[in-house]
Amino acid sequence: VIEIRHLNKFFGANEVLKDINLSVGKGEVVSIIGSSGSGKSTLLRCINLLEKPSGGEIVYNGQNILAEKHNVSLYRRHLGMVFQQFNLFNNHNALSNCVVGQVEVLKRSKDEATETAMKYLRNVGMEQYIHAKPKQLSGGQKQRVAIARALSMDPDVLLFDEPTSALDPEMVGEVLKVMKDLAGSGLTMIIVTHEMEFAREVSDRVVFMDQGVIAEEGTPEQIFNNPKQERTREFLKRTL
Ligand code: ATP
Ligand code: MG
Repeated sequence: VIEIRHLNKFFGANEVLKDINLSVGKGEVVSIIGSSGSGKSTLLRCINLLEKPSGGEIVYNGQNILAEKHNVSLYRRHLGMVFQQFNLFNNHNALSNCVVGQVEVLKRSKDEATETAMKYLRNVGMEQYIHAKPKQLSGGQKQRVAIARALSMDPDVLLFDEPTSALDPEMVGEVLKVMKDLAGSGLTMIIVTHEMEFAREVSDRVVFMDQGVIAEEGTPEQIFNNPKQERTREFLKRTL
């Protein structure tokens, strides 16, 4: 679905992404791991154009979406994003959080949007909380609503940036469980995570980033059991 070619990103003179090449196929689950500051979030933000890449190509269904003429908002509509800090609309309840985007962006009717939202809120186990505002929900519950909201937009690809890092430990499991189910359902997912066990279990491919480059990528088996690069071994030794 998405192919990233020779992508780079500068913040001022600081090159934080260097010649990134990564392709993600339909239904693939790709995890991105690496130390703090290695560029994982910046890469995700470049993929969904929250940051403007400095160079390179992002090819989506055969088209370079960084080319001048391309309709960026149309492209972004096909991507969903789940953030560490949930980014829910605090003045909307759980159901409404999942409905507004569908009505405003996808121009769905209120009824259709509500039906879709309910389906996904049920999937993430939040149907009893549809009238609750974010401040009445736990971190894990908020993140499950955020996932339902992203799914309600029928994304082709769902991006996650450390979705469990802001959660109390006892809530990490419920969110990982939802993500694991999604991974098994054939959804295309790109997941930045510090949860190594989870990455090992659900990923088709694991990408290890270090200082703005993809230092190594491979199957979970290759990366976790038989890393080729010294810096991958060092990183895993520190985190596992
Ligand atoms: P973490 O695991 O801590 O989330 P990360 O791998 O997601 O780290 P990034 O947030 O992508 O790392 O940051 C990569 C580098 O880019 C860092 O050196 C960071 O300081 C820098 N950076 C990120 N965002 C900006 C920005 N908006 N302006 C300037 N520099 C930035
Ligand atoms: Mg980050």
